[in-house]
Amino acid sequence: MKTDIQIAQESTMLHIRDVAGQMGLTEDDLDFYGKYKAKISLDVLRREEKTEDAKLILVTAINPTPAGEGKSTVTVGLGQALTKIGKKAVIALREPSLGPVFGVKGGAAGGGYSQVVPMEDINLHFTGDMHAITTTNNLLSAAIDNHIHQGNKLNIDVRRILFKRVLDMNDRALRQVNVGLGGKPNGFPREDGFMITVASEIMAILCLATSLEDLKERMGQIMIGYNYDGEAIFARDLNVQGAMALLMKDAIMPNLVQTLENTPAIIHGGPFANIAHGCNSILATKTALKLGDYVVTEAGFGADLGAEKFLDIKCRFGGLNPSAVVIVATVRALKHHGGVQKADLSTPNVEGLEKGIVNLEKQIENIRKFNLEPVVAINKFVSDSDEEIQYIENFLNKMNVKVALTEVWEKGGEGGVELAHKVIEVAEGAGTYKPLYDVELPIKEKIGTIVKEIYGGSSVAYSPKAEKAIREIEAMGLDKKPICMAKTQYSLSDNPKLLGAPSGFEVKVNEVKLSNGAGFIVCLTGDVMTMPGLPKVPAANNMDIDEDGNILGLF
Ligand code: ADP
Repeated sequence: MKTDIQIAQESTMLHIRDVAGQMGLTEDDLDFYGKYKAKISLDVLRREEKTEDAKLILVTAINPTPAGEGKSTVTVGLGQALTKIGKKAVIALREPSLGPVFGVKGGAAGGGYSQVVPMEDINLHFTGDMHAITTTNNLLSAAIDNHIHQGNKLNIDVRRILFKRVLDMNDRALRQVNVGLGGKPNGFPREDGFMITVASEIMAILCLATSLEDLKERMGQIMIGYNYDGEAIFARDLNVQGAMALLMKDAIMPNLVQTLENTPAIIHGGPFANIAHGCNSILATKTALKLGDYVVTEAGFGADLGAEKFLDIKCRFGGLNPSAVVIVATVRALKHHGGVQKADLSTPNVEGLEKGIVNLEKQIENIRKFNLEPVVAINKFVSDSDEEIQYIENFLNKMNVKVALTEVWEKGGEGGVELAHKVIEVAEGAGTYKPLYDVELPIKEKIGTIVKEIYGGSSVAYSPKAEKAIREIEAMGLDKKPICMAKTQYSLSDNPKLLGAPSGFEVKVNEVKLSNGAGFIVCLTGDVMTMPGLPKVPAANNMDIDEDGNILGLF
């Protein structure tokens, strides 16, 4: 079996000019980054304003096993399959973060014969967006400490600064640091910390901004902390939002690459799916919607987190109207939900599957609450038995849900033709999606609705810290925003060990945070890691490059 990188390196890429040409773009619309990557000018979106939007298809999944269930792979494969049957398809994906690439998760460029290329570049520095976001974030951090050093006119309370520095690396040693040590010339000592770049509010802003002007406005609205009177201080009080937007002038343009089968893929923005909303940028999705007939996109984690936030946050802000939702399910993950141990997941076991399929059933019901119709893609693994696949198909037929056995990892677009036809059928008959809740509702009502309707929980318990934060956000009148839930991806509940479709549980909210620039309120359940660490044997240990530039070990 070839590795992902071997398959990727054997592919024949078109010059990116020709990929853009398939979508009707010319060289004037592009900024080239070598032969195989380009940025698409924001003028394209302005020019095509009146063009009718393509059909938007979201790919999501059941609650995954730690290995991932193949959302990116199916997203790329479905795009290739649509192209194969003669449709103009554009894929819109997230950009990988260097942290997971060198850590444990691996890349985010799909797998097998459904990948985006050049995968080495996409998984490494790509077009420098992560660098721009990191620098923009750290400019604001530097401005905060400089303001305090220069006399602290705003009276910033150094004990209550919320805004942190960032770096795009898994580095647990930086979670908590002291800055300003070394005496008077170095400013005032205070506690600070680093987050990984993709967890930053700047990344969330990039992904939700609808123009450069909107991006600048949102940068100014970031709440950085409090003054000594307990009043909120915003980035605009330091007057750096202009410089921050300037640093983002190239990063705001969507990146164009291609799949192994030369389908155009726009890869832009990659916010964490816990602390942020986990979807690629609105600008990339909107640009894609003007350039194809079908746009296939993805949201991080399972449908309870990723799809909910895609539908309640991204679509609401972007005025997007998705037409179909693909739920990726695997036989092994369904068995995992049925209590089958990790070592036995490759052994046929219909009984385990029967117990675990409730997770898929609940995710289907959830998608229907948004007035959308799901299509289930069974992402086929070589270990799946015919009997197991037949069982899932029968179950879904009874639920009146379309299902397609999907072999895009093994066969590329060819393996997704049945899925493509079923998705088209659903998309063509789609109505108007509706978000789950009204943003005007009080914060607790919005959280309660998500917990009861989507997770299947019965109640929510708030820590004193969360209660206080809710009161403060409401007192400032900044509460009429969607909720960005931060929760384990492994369960419908907030307890990763509760598999299947649990009910009647209580969700514990530890913290509530305002991301005022991004425009949402983050609700944290459990411990949420904003700066991951490296595992005992990081993926980095297997990577190498030889004298001829051949790359090894990048999955
Ligand atoms: P997700 O987007 O859900 O996290 P990915 O698409 O990134 O998942 O896939 C996770 C890993 O599983 C990748 O290494 C990919 O190559 C592999 N993979 C996906 N589908 C299959 C399959 N059908 N058979 C074998 N490996 C697969």
